[in-house]
This record gives sequence, structure tokens and C-alpha cells, in this order.
Amino acid sequence: KSGFVAILGRPNVGKSTFLNHVMGQKIAIMSDKPQTTRNKIQGIYTTDTEQIVFIDTPGIHKPHNALGDFMVQSAYSTLRECDVVLFMVAADEPRSTGEDMIIERLKKAEVPVLLVVNKIDKVHPDRLFEIVSDYTSQMDFAEVVPISALQGNNTSALIDTLSSKL
Ligand code: GDP
Ligand code: MG
Repeated sequence: KSGFVAILGRPNVGKSTFLNHVMGQKIAIMSDKPQTTRNKIQGIYTTDTEQIVFIDTPGIHKPHNALGDFMVQSAYSTLRECDVVLFMVAADEPRSTGEDMIIERLKKAEVPVLLVVNKIDKVHPDRLFEIVSDYTSQMDFAEVVPISALQGNNTSALIDTLSSKL
């Protein structure tokens, strides 16, 4: 199995952390500051049966200047080049206008969109259920996968799930 997987989500939800965890090395820049990732950084995850090219995107946000606008366009152009989209959100924060903007765009995606609810280590299971229901009421996702990118919880299940979509 092989294909391109885009990781989308607003800044700070853990996209780079996930990519780093999966690749096992620091290939994307990580920081507490939003928008550290300025470019698409690709990691190629290879096993005996899979070759998955991950595309990290600069966080999607409302652009305030030319650089911001470039970064948002860059993230959206990735959508047209991939086979599966991972839409990553944070379990410990409510859905915001940032997410709503991305959801509107994702509704037009022609490839499967997986909802990845990250940072599950930070919330009670009841809260996780609430946040998942909130997102799934907005859009139909091909799959919903809760993970902790930081601790590596359920990340291999996510790889299996996305691999099944390729
Ligand atoms: P990005 O902007 O989406 O690429 O987000 P980053 O990967 O840079 O992560 C933003 C912040 O969230 C960093 O401080 C990470 O350590 C933290 N973070 C990412 N994933 C998790 C997680 O699963 N659990 C917790 N507790 N923190 C996380
Ligand atoms: Mg990043």
C-alpha cells in the first residue's frame, strides 16, 4: 500500500508531534509557538507492506498578511495532492472558528477525511466523547481516531486505519 497523507489542523493541535512520533526522528520543527512549521515537510513511513508519504502543513488560520496567506494556500493545495486527509483537533480545546473554516473546506474534499482527536492524555473520557460528538455533528468523517501524539497512545491504530484507506 502506498499513498500521500496530508495532516491538517489549526496551529498547536499536535501535527508535528504526531509526525515526529511516527517517523521516530525530529523531522518537523516543534515549538509551543503556533505556526512554527512554515513549509510542507514530508516524512516517508516505510514498512514491508506500506509506503506512506506524510505531508505536514503550516497551520491553517485566518491570514493577516502575505506570509500567512501563503501558508494557508499551501496547506489547502496539499488537499489536492493527497489520498487521505488527517484532520487533527485537540481534545482539550473546544471547536473554534479555526476548525469551522477547515471543516467547510474539507466537506469538498474528494478523498477520505479521518478525524484525529489528539491530546487524549489531557481529558476525561466523558469530555472526549463530547468533543467527538461535536465534530461528527458537523461533518461525516471516514473514521474517528483518538490519540495522544505525545505519549504515542493509539498512534499505531491510526496508521493501520489510514493504511486501510490507501
Ligand atoms: P502543530 O502546530 O499542530 O504542529 O503542533 P505541535 O506538534 O507543534 O504541538 C503543539 C504543542 O502541543 C506542543 O507543546 C506539544 O508538545 C503539545 N502536544 C502535541 N501533542 C500532544 C499530546 O498528545 N498531548 C499533550 N499533552 N500535548 C501534546
Ligand atoms: Mg507544526
